Amino acid sequence: MDLFEYQARDLFAKHGVPVLAGEVIDTPEAAREATERLGGKSVVKAQVKVGGRGKAGGVKLAATPDEAVARATDILGMDIKGHTVHKVMIAETAPEIAEEYYVSYLLDRTNRTFLAMASVAGGMDIEEVAATTPEKLAKVPVDANEGVSIEKAREIVAQAQFPAEVAEKVAEVMVTLWKTFIAEDALLVEVNPLAKVASGDVIALDGKVSLDANAEFRQPEHEALEDKDAANPLEAAAKAKGLNYVKLDGQVGIIGNGAGLVMSTLDVVAYAGEKHNNVKPANFLDIGGGASAEVMANGLEIILGDPDVKSVFVNVFGGITACDEVAKGIVQALELLKSKGEEVTKPLVVRLDGNNAELGRQILSEANHPLVQRVDTMDGAADKAAELAAK
Ligand code: GDP
Ligand code: MN
Repeated sequence: MDLFEYQARDLFAKHGVPVLAGEVIDTPEAAREATERLGGKSVVKAQVKVGGRGKAGGVKLAATPDEAVARATDILGMDIKGHTVHKVMIAETAPEIAEEYYVSYLLDRTNRTFLAMASVAGGMDIEEVAATTPEKLAKVPVDANEGVSIEKAREIVAQAQFPAEVAEKVAEVMVTLWKTFIAEDALLVEVNPLAKVASGDVIALDGKVSLDANAEFRQPEHEALEDKDAANPLEAAAKAKGLNYVKLDGQVGIIGNGAGLVMSTLDVVAYAGEKHNNVKPANFLDIGGGASAEVMANGLEIILGDPDVKSVFVNVFGGITACDEVAKGIVQALELLKSKGEEVTKPLVVRLDGNNAELGRQILSEANHPLVQRVDTMDGAADKAAELAAK
């Protein structure tokens, strides 16, 4: 999960990374009071989860509270690379920026380690620096078990050739930034610019943080950081039910057990769709191993609630998940929806194979639901589901 800058700022502050005061607002008028609280001037910063705001005109200085209102008026509602600005941060202005540095930690999957990156050539052109003069961007692997002590931080700072007068201060920031990275279970923490100001101090003026969703179970505070407005309502409903669901653009609803099977189901349906008016999969939904009838029912309810869905393909290869449970789930889900007055009108194609497949098929045959049809091969079922969606 990517955070907004103001949320990154709050996490930095919590772990001792030096930041300036700032508050987030969503109306131009609120910029006035916020700026007054900061002593009469501020920086007005668009809050969007995309880089290059500054260059796009999303970061403006305001010398008076009135000017802050004017800048907030300009910026709120602006489109930055396809992201509409709904919130701005009113931040304290940095006292005379002398230099702009870049520092970050990230999970380096390729090398199976953490990586520290640092450069004295930070600021809005860091991508350019990294691409054209990679020697100006130091990359130092960090051992997960050892982490970043002050000694390790000094090594990173030395490799990036920070000027002597800021080296120790930057090293201290590298230690607190590492604390943020670890304590918050982040995949990325980035500060750009880390500014050297007139006093000689270094301050994180902009932050990017991406949190690891797999750590949610031990990070109860992270839920509050989710951008509920941006979430797809079906994805949010699926998440509330503990389902692994991703909304896609097509018309064939997909349910399967196991991420690998579901991924290949998406491929097979997309391929079958080429012969049927180019219909495509409408979603990814993995009910997982050992799924119960209830999980199946929850999954079906989500998928049938998607107005784009024209047909549903349930593709189960029973292993830990027994096919009779899946079949019971389908029957129960249809009854449940009917009792709620949301009677199902979309056709379901079900392919059951593996553990207890015969029993599962028998349950479906006995239920004899007019909208459910069994097709016992994956390709055949995908073709049928695509054909029904194309009608
Ligand atoms: P980004 O373009 O999305 O990375 O936005 P940043 O928050 O990094 O801001 C872009 C640039 O605006 C920075 O590199 C700074 O040069 C400048 N900037 C940001 N905050 C301040 C501030 O408080 N005072 C001044 N003078 N400049 C700032
Ligand atoms: Mn920046």
